[in-house]
Amino acid sequence: MSESTTLHERVVIIGSGPAGWTAAIYSARAEMNPFVIEGGISRTMIPGGQLMFTTEVENYPGFKHGVDGQTLMLDMKEQALRFGTRVLTEDVVEIDPAQYPFRLVTTGGTEVFADAVIVATGANAKWIGLANEERLAQSGGGVSACAVCDGALPHFRNQVLAVVGGGDTAMEDALYLTKFAKEVVIVHRRDELRASKIMAERALANEKITFAWNSVVTEVFGDDVITGLRLQDTVTGEERELEVGGLFVAIGHEPNTGFLQDVVDLKDNGYVKTPIPWRTQTSVPGIFAAGDVMDDYYRQAVTAAGTGCMAALDAERWLAHGGVDAHPGEVAAGH
Ligand code: FAD
Ligand code: NAP
Repeated sequence: MSESTTLHERVVIIGSGPAGWTAAIYSARAEMNPFVIEGGISRTMIPGGQLMFTTEVENYPGFKHGVDGQTLMLDMKEQALRFGTRVLTEDVVEIDPAQYPFRLVTTGGTEVFADAVIVATGANAKWIGLANEERLAQSGGGVSACAVCDGALPHFRNQVLAVVGGGDTAMEDALYLTKFAKEVVIVHRRDELRASKIMAERALANEKITFAWNSVVTEVFGDDVITGLRLQDTVTGEERELEVGGLFVAIGHEPNTGFLQDVVDLKDNGYVKTPIPWRTQTSVPGIFAAGDVMDDYYRQAVTAAGTGCMAALDAERWLAHGGVDAHPGEVAAGH
């Protein structure tokens, strides 16, 4: 689209993971004619979202033999297109919440006015930042940022597995992985855990879990699959090698909310607040949020899809009840 393009849409969905496509399928079938701004292509993200970076998804219902992440996402997109969804492959960089219809601007300079907006921009797992870590994570070579998603895969059974991080996620991941692993080594950069007392105690008491304290991973070994790690002591600088059959990185997530800073209320950790329990409305009526961008707890494909469905229904009902016209002043008042 050219720089001067201006559109007016009834429902704009931002993001193209399970939340975005499910919202699109529901909105399209409800004849809301949704417009999906699916995100651009960058080094760390592509349209389709986080599942585009994984091989086997074994816990999404309906696929008894599992499904590869890319197939699942491309099929969701096809399903949304079948009902007339339209798509723009750019990022949203700006939303003006005080103006109604809401004014959105994309990386390509397209200006889109929207009667309702569904934000489904997801979150990105933080990675250590090593070249072979990224390569093996993308090729299914035994590096993952999601133990619940990948831990049960045959590749990780009866192996020594490393979990990097000292927070609750690392403890939870390590405890979960003990079901399948021979041994789990938690690699933490300090000698004190950040995790809550109860989670730390559970991990410390588990005989299958050992700790590499004051340690960071400086290299990941392996061609097709991971074979080991180089660890560096953060106090002495000493290096050592650790043979492992899997690496789970659990050093936190970052929600994709950079463009929402002064738009809707965010939690302290950057995730979008949805103040009414079991609703997807944000602090600005008419702007809804679904998936990992508002969920710092479950972060699963099926929960993202579920909240995508909720957001589409919430948006449809809000518009059916008159949208901002039924509640004058509500949007401008914002929060
Ligand atoms: P995402 O999938 O994160 O998609 C967000 C989309 O928004 C992206 O396409 C992005 O390009 C787009 N976007 C971001 N910013 C903008 C912007 N400003 N403008 C426009 N678009 C934007 N879960 C499971 O249930 N089972 C699994 O087996 C599983 N395996 C996983 C494996 C890996 C390696 C990872 C990283 C995650 C895995 N997960 C798994 C978690 C699952 O992928 C997420 O919970 C799910 O993808 C979240 O969906 P979402 O729609 O909220 O967002
Ligand atoms: P977190 O609390 O931010 O912990 C991240 C951990 O990773 C920290 O130990 C940190 O080390 C380490 N780390 C960060 N960057 C690193 C890097 N580049 N290299 C090596 N290590 C790095 O994140 P989280 O564990 O994902 O938890 C997020 C929130 O969810 C928390 O509020 C947590 O309580 C909650 N949560 C709760 C549960 C539960 O209750 N069951 C489960 C999961 C998550 P430092 O400690 O040195 O900073």
